[in-house]
Amino acid sequence: MKSGRIDLHVHTTASDGTLSPAGVVREALSRGVTILAIADHDITDGVRPAEEAARSTDITVIPAVELSVGSGEREIHVLGYFLDVTTPALADALADLRDARDERNDRILLRLKELGAPLDPARVQEIAGTGSVGRPHIAKALVAAAHVSSEGEAFGRYLARGKPAYVGRQRLGLSQAAGLIREARGIPVLAHPAKIGPRTAIESTLAQGMHGLEVFHSDHGQADVDLLLAIARQKNLMVTGGTDSHGPHSDRALAVGAVDIPQWVGEQVLQHAPPWWRERP
Ligand SMILES: [Zn+2]
Ligand SMILES: [Zn+2]
Repeated sequence: MKSGRIDLHVHTTASDGTLSPAGVVREALSRGVTILAIADHDITDGVRPAEEAARSTDITVIPAVELSVGSGEREIHVLGYFLDVTTPALADALADLRDARDERNDRILLRLKELGAPLDPARVQEIAGTGSVGRPHIAKALVAAAHVSSEGEAFGRYLARGKPAYVGRQRLGLSQAAGLIREARGIPVLAHPAKIGPRTAIESTLAQGMHGLEVFHSDHGQADVDLLLAIARQKNLMVTGGTDSHGPHSDRALAVGAVDIPQWVGEQVLQHAPPWWRERP
């Protein structure tokens, strides 16, 4: 078994990260990471280039994705590990999700125009960089265009739920996301569960098709880790962990491998690897 650092939650320029997949692999190499999962939002395009870049290095790249799921008023994130990224149903579903998001942004910009706060779509994209546009970028653009004086005001006046430029988002349900990941031969894992709330809320979320729990995460303190480990052991779940790094100059500018994750986590994750992945050429 290899020894080295582990990072099972990294974003690239395929979604809203600032490092290319090859850049992530370079950083992982320089920081002694040996098990790396590329887990971009709603897209798996970063996986193959990362696998290419990691060829003839000590790094094992695990193909992954991070799906945003609607759960009542809240958004929950679900990670999928050991995904067969060539699964047509997965590619179709991810493309639909991205289309729905683009459509939503267009509708928000249209409403803002009607409300007397027009924005240049190109400027909004520029603020989002290579990533996909979301409400935080629209809020920044509203400040830059002097329609509001702060991002808080942008949400309070226009963008928050119930405000005039709010547009609901069509999202996957939790068990739908789990089904999609399993259809692509992957393992569904509940991402950064400390955000979800108390133990009962985490447990009822897990019951909807999750086979693993992201115990280690840059937002989790020791108390979170202890609680989540206890839940994972009790329910016999795969334990994962990662930085959720989005690269330098991002809102989550952690270096790849910056969260201390015990060696056994990597070993146990690789033990969960499905036969098709182990036997891949
Ligand atoms: Zn997330
Ligand atoms: Zn993430």
